[in-house]
Parts: sequence; structure tokens; C-alpha cells
Amino acid sequence: MFKMQKERPMKVSLKDGSCRVCGGELTIVNADDSALEVECECGESYLVATDAFNDGGMTYYVGFLSEQMKCDDAT
Ligand SMILES: [Zn+2]
Repeated sequence: MFKMQKERPMKVSLKDGSCRVCGGELTIVNADDSALEVECECGESYLVATDAFNDGGMTYYVGFLSEQMKCDDAT
């Protein structure tokens, strides 16, 4: 269902969201029950809502979590 390339940080498309400091491309580095942690090349990292990228939480949040689950399976 969510086919992602393995072992790649999930980038957020600039059309969906960008760094609040520099407007650059964000990478999702962590997720929990209620928030996503994003990081930018400028060094900024912060938490956003799971549906912060106008996708209802279905693309980035669910996609990221499914990647985490795959990683867990491998150990
Ligand atoms: Zn930035």
C-alpha cells in the first residue's frame, strides 16, 4: 500500500510544507502518537501535527510509521 524506498529519510515535498525558519525542504526524522518531528538542512528541527502537510496525516505520518514498522521487523 505504501511502497517506500528502504532506509531513506522521508522528505516532505515543498508543496506540502517547508521549514518555518528558512523555507527549505524538511525531512521527517521521528514520529509519535500525536506529532511528527521534522528536520531541515539549516539545522532547525521541531514538532508538527501529524496532519500538518495537508494530507490528513495519511501520506507522511502513516508512511513514516509503516517504514518504522518495517525496520522493527528486521531486528
Ligand atoms: Zn530550514
